[in-house]
Amino acid sequence: MLTIGVLALQGAVQEHLDCLHSLPGVTGIPVKKAADLNGIAGLILPGGESTAIGKLLQEFQLAPLLIAKIRAGLPVWGTCAGMILLAKTIVDQPNCHLGLMDITVQRNAYGSQLNSFTTNVLIPAVSSAPLPLVFIRAPYVAKAGPNVKVLATVADKIVAVEQGNMLATAFHPELTGNLEFHKYFVAKAGKQKLTFS
Ligand code: GLN
Repeated sequence: MLTIGVLALQGAVQEHLDCLHSLPGVTGIPVKKAADLNGIAGLILPGGESTAIGKLLQEFQLAPLLIAKIRAGLPVWGTCAGMILLAKTIVDQPNCHLGLMDITVQRNAYGSQLNSFTTNVLIPAVSSAPLPLVFIRAPYVAKAGPNVKVLATVADKIVAVEQGNMLATAFHPELTGNLEFHKYFVAKAGKQKLTFS
């Protein structure tokens, strides 16, 4: 059984847990405190509000521990606000949150909640069929470093990236009923578990 944690401070936590529980051989647990990080094979940083999650990470003193674990190889997947948490640079903001991925993100890049949209995109690394992508006050990646692999673009903007043990998507696979991204991350976590302790 592979255990995947979902950071449970704010945002779309239950939706990710439900997806994880639909996969055979996988269990999902909410991560609220340092001890919850023990024994997980991967961690999902959910969508929500990155400013709020970032503040809570500091308040609960989880940020330094998360940074250390991810640097040591813990597989992590940030969706939407989670992508913003992972970025080293946020456009028009002086500070970042975890600052681990070599990406510059533009927050709320598609406008307000009212401008939320869904589109179907082929992402060959993840699935052989087009995947439904849901964007809600989503960011995009304005700049990606040379060691960042671009997995998907929408209208020429980068919306899914991977860098070593880190995966980030501007959209919300947990809201689509399609489990391909969760399978992709779980497979990545399963492989990495061999090297990550
Ligand atoms: N706009 C949010 C932020 O900047 C992210 C939105 C989301 O996670 N759906 O944190």
